[in-house]
Amino acid sequence: MMVASGTTVVGRLAPSPTGALHLGNARTFLLAWLQVRSRSGTLLLRIEDIDGPRIKSGAIEQTVDDLRWLGLDWDGEVVVQSERLARYRAAADRLLADGRVYACVCTRSEIEEAASAPHEAALDGPVYPGTCRGRFADAEAARSATGREPALRFRVDVDAVPFEDGFAGAQAGRIAGDFVVHKRDGGPAYQLAVVVDDAAQGVTEVLRADDLLPSTPRQLLLYRALELPPPRFVHVPLVVGPDGRRLAKRHGDTSLRWFRQQGVSAERVLGHVAALCGLVPPGTACRPHDLLADYRLERLPRGPMLGSEHGLLPG
Ligand code: GLU
Repeated sequence: MMVASGTTVVGRLAPSPTGALHLGNARTFLLAWLQVRSRSGTLLLRIEDIDGPRIKSGAIEQTVDDLRWLGLDWDGEVVVQSERLARYRAAADRLLADGRVYACVCTRSEIEEAASAPHEAALDGPVYPGTCRGRFADAEAARSATGREPALRFRVDVDAVPFEDGFAGAQAGRIAGDFVVHKRDGGPAYQLAVVVDDAAQGVTEVLRADDLLPSTPRQLLLYRALELPPPRFVHVPLVVGPDGRRLAKRHGDTSLRWFRQQGVSAERVLGHVAALCGLVPPGTACRPHDLLADYRLERLPRGPMLGSEHGLLPG
């Protein structure tokens, strides 16, 4: 694995290979690439294949192929999260030994039932009401008392972790409730895996879409608890569909594979995504390197970017 040192910026592309990459993913990865390449930094590729539904076979290869097709490149070997489970377990064990996490046997529906005000739930899932805090001496006690396999939940003792975002500016960093770091099925939660990996890979800057802003204070708490240096965070506006929601399949097929099948060139798709970012006029066809000279993060629009196939396909 590549671990960079010194003062150069180290960024990463961190796709979840859950399906075909779409325009929203392409936008984020282009910006992550530009942000690092414009400063002659190191860009790593990490496949985040541990979260969500089972990853279909061939999905990793397809993700890598989509990135290459767009003209994006990276440095060093590709890191795959499912090959690193022991590291996440070790980090979870350390948090357990330090009393930072506790065993929790609550199911999602129990948490939903017990969740407090709905406006709080709207922030980032239901707020954990603390049912298992102080309830069991350890994971074994939780298991024998309930017959359930426990998750490990991080004890949040602050209301907020304020931080300065590299694009979104000063953030209050509110954290609503204790959160899971290791799941009941024995795998790590996204929050823990991403912190362990970014730290182990020497990542100094994380650029991602701002739907992950509510995760950042949680990750900052994990950096503190594990005594690891946090990266700088840069959250860019989310690419949304016409209804203002995160671009997804319900908005029609905006996958790179689809455009490719329709004979749309990688240059046109990339130009389309760059135009969303205000980097080139609409209708431009280009390669990532063509954008380097004029790239400035400050040129990005402040609001959500509307992702659609409009202008890419006839009609
Ligand atoms: N793998 C995550 C995603 O594709 C990104 C996580 C991150 O950038 O921290 O949504």
